[in-house]
Amino acid sequence: MSQTQDKPSAPINVKLLLIGNSSVGKSSLLLRFSDEQWLPEDESNATIGVDFRVHKMEVKSKRVKLSIWDTAGQERFRTITSSYYRGAQGIILVYDVANRESFEALPRWFSELETYVSSSVVKIIVGNKVDKEYSRQVSTAEGQAFATRMGALFIEASAKTAVGVEDAFRDVVARIIDTPELWQAAPRAGVSAGKPSARRDAGNDDMPGSIDLHQEQDEAEGGGCAC
Ligand code: GDP
Repeated sequence: MSQTQDKPSAPINVKLLLIGNSSVGKSSLLLRFSDEQWLPEDESNATIGVDFRVHKMEVKSKRVKLSIWDTAGQERFRTITSSYYRGAQGIILVYDVANRESFEALPRWFSELETYVSSSVVKIIVGNKVDKEYSRQVSTAEGQAFATRMGALFIEASAKTAVGVEDAFRDVVARIIDTPELWQAAPRAGVSAGKPSARRDAGNDDMPGSIDLHQEQDEAEGGGCAC
């Protein structure tokens, strides 16, 4: 039997970033996904501040080594450094379904992405804290409609109950696997996989130059404020 053939191939390295307003649950989602852990609200108190986690998984029959980065609270000062974005193939944009302001901040986060990452980088919007259904301020339809308009994946989740968390990470990785330019023969994947998309020509692609949360919102069935 030849030992030179059929060596197990090296895992695909994938870098994911979590972004979104402070306290939407980014660190909690990361802890839930990678450590299957949940810190009670009163213990975690605002931002837990995880730096990053490495997680191995198999998606679409490919071994994937994920490094998932958390802002560790940088966003509180509106100063996420450009180096944070370098080399990312996937971005997880988180808002809190019970905090409308965090949803309304998404266009700002997308504008920042336009500046720092290639348009081919996969994005998923995660509406977190669905366990707080009683105080929901953003409907599922509204979240979905915005994601569709931005060409992003969408899921609702709860770091507290774990619902949707594994799926969120799997979905984004699956889309990355489906986009070989993001991980094949790309020593500096992500940013190198295309030009950073700042200052794109109007109408040049699916992301509008000025991002408006509410444009064509009526398309969403039941869209609009759920308050
Ligand atoms: P970050 O600043 O975005 O990283 O947010 P954290 O992960 O630090 O969470 C902020 C607060 O929200 C903490 O008190 C968490 O316990 C709480 N939290 C996070 N995720 C959930 C969730 O899914 N449901 C509920 N009810 N609370 C959550």
